[in-house]
Amino acid sequence: MNTLYDTHCHIDFQAFDEDREQVLEAAAEAGVERFMVPGVSAEQWPRLQQLVNQFASWRFALGLHPWFIQQHNLNHLQELEQALDTPHERLRAVGEVGLDATCDNSELQRELFIEQLKLAKNYRLPVIIHHRKTLETTHPLVKQYGPEQGVIHAFSGSYEQAMKFVDCGYKLGVGGVITYTRAQKTRQAIAKVPLSALVLETDSPDMPICGHQGERNEPARIAKVLSVLAELRKVDKDSLSEALWKNSCELFNEAQPASNDHVSG
Ligand SMILES: [Zn+2]
Repeated sequence: MNTLYDTHCHIDFQAFDEDREQVLEAAAEAGVERFMVPGVSAEQWPRLQQLVNQFASWRFALGLHPWFIQQHNLNHLQELEQALDTPHERLRAVGEVGLDATCDNSELQRELFIEQLKLAKNYRLPVIIHHRKTLETTHPLVKQYGPEQGVIHAFSGSYEQAMKFVDCGYKLGVGGVITYTRAQKTRQAIAKVPLSALVLETDSPDMPICGHQGERNEPARIAKVLSVLAELRKVDKDSLSEALWKNSCELFNEAQPASNDHVSG
């Protein structure tokens, strides 16, 4: 079985409160051994950390997500800094941060994004970046303020757009988007960029894969994303999953061996 890392999933969300254990079990059966669960708002951070302490396979990030812009204010940046000051072995990134053209208050979004990029850089942590119709404005900010490492979550765009971030040393999160044949531009880009730039993700409970529209997404479905990616890149799944695991560990500065998360508790 392939060992997989879901590098972006919101399994702390309420959508999983009823059956979180079963969802994690199904994921384990599909080979998912690690999960990166991003922060989204100051209000959510304590609960996220509480859950992280329950599940040894979880890694987490802290950040202010543009979808929750109505809840954010500049004081939260100080709270974030304090939280980053508190050592936690599995706090591996700043995120989820970014710009979203479909959300309000673009000025506050921009200010929070820049300040969080700077924090990530200061704390030598990678950054998890959300984008929506904002790839072009995101790139110069990443270049100017961002840390050396990061990931463009749910990348969708052209090969040229992809390479701009790859050239900065950033990785691209590959998820459900590529399971839709109509996503030609993104599929072609992902087929062509260097393998070392790719990581897998589901964005659960969002971004259902093709064939499961309207359903809650789950980390177990990442196996389907792996299959599609192997087809697109014309490589075998075993060597592909090995490379993706390595990329994911590299992204979050983690030791590589899997399978010991479960026993070490
Ligand atoms: Zn997300």
